[in-house]
Amino acid sequence: MRMINHWIAGRETGNRPGGVGLHVGQVHNPATGEVSAEVDYATPAEVDAAVAAAQEAFAGWRSTSLARRTKVLFAFRNLIDSHQEELARIITAEHGKTLEDARGEVARGLDVIEFACGIPHVLEGGFSANVSTSIDTYSIRQPLGVVAGITPFNFPVMVPMWMFPIAVACGNCFVLKPSEKDPSASIMVARLWEEAGLPPGVFNVVHGDKVAVDAILAHPGIAAVSFVGSTPVARYIYVTAASAGKRVQALGGAKNHAVVLPDADTGFAADAIASAAYGSAGERCMAISAVVAVGAAGDPLVEALAVRARELRTGPGDDERSGMGPLITEAHRDRVAGYLVTGVAEGAELVVDGREGPIDGSREGYYLRPSLFDGVTPEMAIYRDEIFGPVLCVLRVPTFEDAVELVNASPYANGAAIFTNDGLAARSFEEKVDAGMVGINVPIPTPVAYYSFGGAKQSLFGDTHVHGEHGVHFYTKTKAVTARWPKPADGSDMRLAFPSTGQP
Ligand code: NAD
Repeated sequence: MRMINHWIAGRETGNRPGGVGLHVGQVHNPATGEVSAEVDYATPAEVDAAVAAAQEAFAGWRSTSLARRTKVLFAFRNLIDSHQEELARIITAEHGKTLEDARGEVARGLDVIEFACGIPHVLEGGFSANVSTSIDTYSIRQPLGVVAGITPFNFPVMVPMWMFPIAVACGNCFVLKPSEKDPSASIMVARLWEEAGLPPGVFNVVHGDKVAVDAILAHPGIAAVSFVGSTPVARYIYVTAASAGKRVQALGGAKNHAVVLPDADTGFAADAIASAAYGSAGERCMAISAVVAVGAAGDPLVEALAVRARELRTGPGDDERSGMGPLITEAHRDRVAGYLVTGVAEGAELVVDGREGPIDGSREGYYLRPSLFDGVTPEMAIYRDEIFGPVLCVLRVPTFEDAVELVNASPYANGAAIFTNDGLAARSFEEKVDAGMVGINVPIPTPVAYYSFGGAKQSLFGDTHVHGEHGVHFYTKTKAVTARWPKPADGSDMRLAFPSTGQP
């Protein structure tokens, strides 16, 4: 059985196959249900070793010139670019999403590396000459030290890349704890960093579960933690790491709404919404899981969505004909299917039932076809809970104002979209809706790397988003320097009053 080990101080380390007392997890191919590898779960001692390696590397990396750091980043960018297909295939084999989707994920990760290649410009400080006579004030940004990233299963390449390219470019050393469900891509990324010339210890990977996470949260050598995952764990990470004195950003779960106004083009909106609801089997933090149909938009929209849900081909991610792959685990597939029973019991109309219809893959794979509910109300569990699967709920409201009120009453606030041809309504939506990312006739408004990504309310604990200037801000601390260079002839200058009024 292939064993996936940690990456510490520039080499693979951990329990080798056949070791005693292994604490390991299994990695599955969701398309077939087969176990494809075992992954070593880090003990606190292994987390200590990764942090120690990162601490040792920090002094050298923080003082490495920007020119040299940028060279490493460019080399890494080129290596990721030339290994895109390999990375995409690793994602599909362990996550299950279609290859096309996996390729898109790698491309979005690459986007952040390209942003990080421009770090010398983004790290520029401010300078004010002569703030008082012959006194200058300037600000510099410095790295924090060792920082950690804890990431979810649904984007095993892109989400870590929201974090580490910027952290490393800013001069930090990084410890990544990727999802134990699809851990292989992180090791390939570590090898590519090494090939790019990154010194050992600057980028480390520890695999594992809560034991590894808790060791990270408690470790005095870690200055900051970035987390992306479900809301209950995000809240736990935020509270625990902050009370240990760390800087924290913890991105949580979501329930993203698409409001459809009666003037919207039904076919266009249905295509966009079906793609956002069922793409990656609904396992995206920016998936549309709730449609709010306003007035007369409802009937034709439900009809158009039902056609698309029924037609979607569901099968293995590595079959180019599949529009949607399996879910991540058998337990998760069963949990999502359970919501179909719940929704019917709650009184919603199950227009398309994902338990019916053909699956083009193995019977042992974790498949569930797309489902569509109509007549959903805000009290129902199928609306309140983040299902994180290919289940789309349609709620109906009479007016635009009701739609905005409904969206804003959600405890989540990651993304929200509106479909309309009315610019005034779109502008009003953009201003009033409480969500971190807003789409106008765009269903998944995931911002490009030079803007920031993040939500509000229970979708984000902390105040900084990931990447863009927010990422640079999160991974650096600001120092403001006030300096003067007196001439010997100036003599001594003792003043107790501040600010001094005696001198302009
Ligand atoms: P998860 O919260 O179960 O796991 C995320 C990470 O936390 C993993 O590395 C896991 O090992 C660790 N973890 C899990 N349980 C833990 C615990 N009790 N204590 C400490 N650590 C723990 O999330 P997931 O199922 O891997 O990913 C799906 C979730 O992530 C969804 O809720 C989705 O919305 C969310 N997500 C959010 C964003 C965003 O940008 N807001 C992006 C991607 C995914």
